[in-house]
Amino acid sequence: VVQSLQVHSGRMVPFSVEFNPPRDAAGEARLWRAVREFERMHPAFVSMTYGAGGSTKDRTVRVTGELAQETTLLPVAHLTAVGHSVAELRSLVGAYADSGIRNILVLRGDPPGDPLGEWHKHPEGVEYAEELVRIVRDLGDFHVGVASFPQGHHRSPDLETDTAFLAAKLRAGAEYSITQMFFEVDHYLRLRDRVVAMDPVEGAKPIIPELMPITSLRTVTRAEELCGRALPDSVLERLREAAGDGPEEDRAAVREVGIEIATEMAQRLIDEGAPCLHFITLNFAKATSEVLTNLGYGVTAAPVSA
Ligand code: FAD
Repeated sequence: VVQSLQVHSGRMVPFSVEFNPPRDAAGEARLWRAVREFERMHPAFVSMTYGAGGSTKDRTVRVTGELAQETTLLPVAHLTAVGHSVAELRSLVGAYADSGIRNILVLRGDPPGDPLGEWHKHPEGVEYAEELVRIVRDLGDFHVGVASFPQGHHRSPDLETDTAFLAAKLRAGAEYSITQMFFEVDHYLRLRDRVVAMDPVEGAKPIIPELMPITSLRTVTRAEELCGRALPDSVLERLREAAGDGPEEDRAAVREVGIEIATEMAQRLIDEGAPCLHFITLNFAKATSEVLTNLGYGVTAAPVSA
């Protein structure tokens, strides 16, 4: 990933996208439509999330392998510790390696069912992502990324401790982090400052901001679930105002404002020197490609200017 960021950083800030494992054949067809759309836009990498507890394990491993073998994209496989012994985790990494995947985003994962519920490690598993970073690195030539949290992880006692845990994951061998989605760029900038102040060496590693274009009030709920917090009032007000006060939300207006918000955030992140823009796509290409077009990225050619 870090190498790909360097290759892509020639003229414009690179971007990358996140996919989710499809649940069925129709979902898989939709994913492939998005994959082919993004392929024309040259993302630095694409990541594939991992279902809680490995519920869609076989499909996830197969589809991520197909991304490696049948596209020009660089896939990053998310790997979570939930419900897996260390032996199972090793064998999963082996399955990814067999299909040509060398980039793994190492995560602990959340308790299945209720992300805020009590965390129990698998009796033969790992307690924290940091341990899994070491395990994956020990397995061979893998490039590892980890999660970072601009507003702190919901289980961390405070931001300083949260930053110390991130620095430990980076020291354990992670080469970069991807943040939890956020809606206030200042949170991202403060995280970056905290890591640099705490550990200048680890702080030099890329912190890739994650964005999600809001396309409806329903996506607001999804975004709040994914980041485990309410969206800021300033953002909610703009979206609600666009929705109008009629019985039906004005979806076109909400979508327009959602894309506008994501574009403004992305532009500020570019201006502030973010190393890459990582978009949650929910396996649709349209909203992300609109944001990229607003920012001046070409659709069929490599990006044109910084
Ligand atoms: P850890 O780094 O292990 O941290 C977990 C908690 O323990 C935190 O509160 C941390 O502060 C604390 N902690 C860490 N180290 C220590 C230590 N040494 N001692 C004491 N406390 C410690 N979930 C999925 O199920 N599938 C996915 O594909 C997925 N993709 C994600 C992608 C991104 C970019 C992000 C930001 C999150 C993703 N998640 C995914 C959610 C993630 O699994 C959860 O947020 C999870 O609760 C934390 O994972 P982590 O890897 O940061 O855990």
